[in-house]
Amino acid sequence: MDTPAPISPLSDETRPSRTEAEAAVRTLLRWAGDDPSREGLIDTPARVVRAFEEWFVGYGNDPEAMLRRTFEEVEGYDEMVVLKDIHFESYCEHHMAPIIGKAHVAYLPQRRVVGISKLARVVDLYAKRLQIQEKMTSQIANAIQDVLEPKGVAVVIEAVHQCMTTRGVHKTGVSMVTSRMLGAFRDDPITRREFLSIIGNPR
Ligand SMILES: [Zn+2]
Repeated sequence: MDTPAPISPLSDETRPSRTEAEAAVRTLLRWAGDDPSREGLIDTPARVVRAFEEWFVGYGNDPEAMLRRTFEEVEGYDEMVVLKDIHFESYCEHHMAPIIGKAHVAYLPQRRVVGISKLARVVDLYAKRLQIQEKMTSQIANAIQDVLEPKGVAVVIEAVHQCMTTRGVHKTGVSMVTSRMLGAFRDDPITRREFLSIIGNPR
């Protein structure tokens, strides 16, 4: 793993301690109507706080620093690079409920290419933050555009929002599709169509 600079939005002084975070979980357990001191819940605050460390690990990583290590020797390769069906789990910033889905990422190289695992990692780094799907779609596309400076970038995300399936309108089987097309994917209908047909036309 590279060592990207931490970019937590909170400085160390304003970030609550682990003890404070666990106390907050106990408050929510009481709010839900349960007793945080009963046996089954006694270790729950510590577990929830550790789970948060996994779910929100993306705040500690800088996707641009991660993408910056590119491979420039492409021997003239200038065709579309597509990574499709990248599974991700994220959390909606309105309800902190899971957003589960897949991302499709493509770019048209110009001089530089990047290891394909990096494309999947960029998706993960933005997913492991509190998100709205539209913002996440743009952030992934913009990071790739800014660092690789390709001829174009396309990102399509299809996801199910548990804040919609488990509460509120309770609609199951509904997935949301968002896309962000830059450069050739925005300007050239043939390039865009080729990408959409490769990923199976989610729209
Ligand atoms: Zn939500």
